[in-house]
Amino acid sequence: MNNLMNFPYRSLRIDTTGLPLEWIDFKEAAKLYSVGDVVYTLGDHLYTIRGGINAKSGLRSQISINSIIATRGRSKHFQQKLSDFTPPLNNQTLFKRDDHLCLYCGSQYSKRELTRDHVTPISRGGQDIWQNVVSACKRCNNIKGGKTPEEANMGLLAIPFAPSYAEYILLQGRNILADQMSFLLSHIPKSSPIIERMQSKEASPIILKN
Ligand SMILES: [Zn+2]
Repeated sequence: MNNLMNFPYRSLRIDTTGLPLEWIDFKEAAKLYSVGDVVYTLGDHLYTIRGGINAKSGLRSQISINSIIATRGRSKHFQQKLSDFTPPLNNQTLFKRDDHLCLYCGSQYSKRELTRDHVTPISRGGQDIWQNVVSACKRCNNIKGGKTPEEANMGLLAIPFAPSYAEYILLQGRNILADQMSFLLSHIPKSSPIIERMQSKEASPIILKN
């Protein structure tokens, strides 16, 4: 009945101290509301979910879902772990980190046309970690082959880095709303290369809900 197509926006789940945790769809959000785990909300009203009719009262239940939802359940211990959090490395997040640019030729590609290049090749002792991987088009990756950038005479356009926890949440977002974006930006230093890349774009990545 509830088609996800009709609910293109997700709620940003945060803990009670205001730390961003994850994106959740309206079903997960409705569940948190219904079990009383939502402590407070921020941002705009997103959806109203109508449930069944209560047999006793004859009233239809309804849940109002906000764009930012603070829930119980995370400890201080979790926050301490976040300071040395390393996001799982996968191509989708890597390509988003690099704004779908090939970091050798600087052209923008679709994710199908991009590859994960190991700056110092694995065969030369390079590791499969954020600090040693960049998005590269197939052509550049092919030309570079098993060489280092210096040997291949191919300069890197940016230094690869591991996204912080908040940057990782930002990279995982789709259809991020303006209020969610400003909340996330308050957790990310302005010097973040991800923010710089977003702001240098002509088209704003922020989608305003009408
Ligand atoms: Zn390229």
